[in-house]
Amino acid sequence: MVETGQEISSRAVAVSSQERTAASAAVPNVPRVLSGTAIAAEIQAEVARDVAGLAPHGIRPGLAAVLVGHVPASEVYVRSKVKTCADLGLYSDLITPPETVTTEEMLELIAELNARDAIDGILVQLPLPPHVDAKRLLEAVSPEKDVDGFHPVSVGRLQTGQPAFAPCTAIGIVEILKRSGIAIAGKQAVVLGRSDIVGKPTAVLLLQENATVTICHSRTQDVAEHCRRADILVAAIGRPGYVTPEMVKPGATIVDVGINRITTHEEFDRFFTGDRRREEMFLLKGSTLVGDVHPAAFAVSGAYTPVPGGVGKLTIAMLMANTVRAARMRRGLPV
Ligand code: NAP
Repeated sequence: MVETGQEISSRAVAVSSQERTAASAAVPNVPRVLSGTAIAAEIQAEVARDVAGLAPHGIRPGLAAVLVGHVPASEVYVRSKVKTCADLGLYSDLITPPETVTTEEMLELIAELNARDAIDGILVQLPLPPHVDAKRLLEAVSPEKDVDGFHPVSVGRLQTGQPAFAPCTAIGIVEILKRSGIAIAGKQAVVLGRSDIVGKPTAVLLLQENATVTICHSRTQDVAEHCRRADILVAAIGRPGYVTPEMVKPGATIVDVGINRITTHEEFDRFFTGDRRREEMFLLKGSTLVGDVHPAAFAVSGAYTPVPGGVGKLTIAMLMANTVRAARMRRGLPV
């Protein structure tokens, strides 16, 4: 369920009314909601068209998804990737080694997928069981088929501005900004989080788009001060509601990457007091999602990505786009 900017705006006024000036209360800010759902649908339609255009040339982009053992969240996620492949006309192969698989067996599987012509992209779903050497596996994936962008060659290419596969969430973030007409060049972008999967590649991509980029992490002093300077604030730290209204520059664009599940009424009230629609869903399901940004902070922004319905929707769409790109690049076709 996606809230409108108006709904969040009214709630935020209730949450922080004492801190708001009479002037801003008189003309309430109504931020734009950057719908990941809509943008993902647009990208998927483009991918489907591209796949259809390749078919007469005998090319069907293919993704291998390797899912080890039974991690419920991973199962849901991989199933969704495989279904999206089918929806868009890509070939997919779901490979499910048992929990007991060894690193050597996984390396053999990856070598076989590297060699298999029907496969353009290889995805090894993380996390892997602790006895499997994830780093060795990710480095074994051929960079040509590294649609997750985790291989050191992909990372190096990205850093040096060469054509590269970048991690899907990071490219999704930049796609949302670009397709929403948010100016990046010359802007102050602050990225909270420096993980290899989200924070670092997002910072590199924003730098390539000519933003002035600051990366904050758990040892950064005065994170709030950095955030207040941001024209574009990307929050990817995995801390529910960490970014509060006081940390947001009025009119800034907020990209909330965090996906945190909350299950107690106390937490619910901390973030969503007065949000009746969400409360109904919370009572029904026993949980709801909150990002790394407190919902009240969105009211200060000029535009923001909601949770759910924001960045999360882009990740699979970009994986599909990367797979088609890999299929084209491997055959020397323009991308
Ligand atoms: P991660 O690997 O746990 O990295 C978290 C990063 O946040 C680290 O760099 C950490 O700093 C930093 N951090 C933690 N607490 C902080 C604090 N108080 N102040 C400043 N920085 C802090 O997480 P991740 O994989 O990047 O994921 C981040 C969030 O995005 C999670 O909520 C995750 O669920 C979500 N996510 C969403 C998608 C999607 O598709 N939407 C995809 C991936 C992840 P240090 O490096 O100093 O430890």
